[in-house]
Amino acid sequence: MNTYLQLLVFGVLASAGNLLGGLLITRKSRTSKARLRYLIALGAGFMLAAVFLEVIPEISEQWQGRMLIPMALLLAGYLLLQLAEHTIAPHFHFGEEVHTHEMVRRGVAASAVVALSIHTFFDGVAISSGLLTSFRLGLIIFLAVFLHKIPEGFTVASIVLSSGRGVRAARNASFLIAGATFAGILTVSLVKPAVIYTLPFSAGVTLYVAASDLIPEVNHGFDSHNHDHEHKHDGTDHGGKLTSLLVFAGVALFFLTQQLLHMAIGE
Ligand SMILES: [Zn+2]
Ligand SMILES: [Zn+2]
Repeated sequence: MNTYLQLLVFGVLASAGNLLGGLLITRKSRTSKARLRYLIALGAGFMLAAVFLEVIPEISEQWQGRMLIPMALLLAGYLLLQLAEHTIAPHFHFGEEVHTHEMVRRGVAASAVVALSIHTFFDGVAISSGLLTSFRLGLIIFLAVFLHKIPEGFTVASIVLSSGRGVRAARNASFLIAGATFAGILTVSLVKPAVIYTLPFSAGVTLYVAASDLIPEVNHGFDSHNHDHEHKHDGTDHGGKLTSLLVFAGVALFFLTQQLLHMAIGE
């Protein structure tokens, strides 16, 4: 299969995950929310393993061990999301938005949606940078990113609903972040020689998503209690042991994927 067709397939699937997550917002059942938390935990574990065991070793090969520039780019990617999601946007966290009070303030929801669009743009950049390096790396990064795409669509839709807008606006927001994902994929495919820079930068973004967006949601689980104004810190608002264990299952799933890839394509 040619690389551009692969990019198209991965792009469509990743974007579809966002759209599906946006559609789930009308299904308010507890079980579907619990399942989203499981996906977030699995995704976090898989992403961490992929960054440390696949992406960084590949970057080291591309840069022949001279790691200062690529590691600076990785740090910059990490800090970009800190800036977008938590410095410019006054209120954002991954997972269902339940703090309606914060969201009705003018511009708060909009800035969170813009922040998440920047994040998803670099989800796309990561997938594309991987695939333009090798099919193996592209597939692994795609799987790592895909696991959090449905919860991501759900997140953005819930932000818009919490701001008092309707279901249609919520779904439009999931279209926006899906489009940003696809735009990220297209952008890198247009500037292929830039991949040695976009791979480490987007790895920093992926690391942020795993360690600073998803893991806090695994550990705190804002949506398990519908407290409107404050996060409780009485020890009851954690995501539970099973959810935390699924982070490790995500790492195991990564090793399983490596084994399957080894058997299938001998790499
Ligand atoms: Zn909130
Ligand atoms: Zn993402």
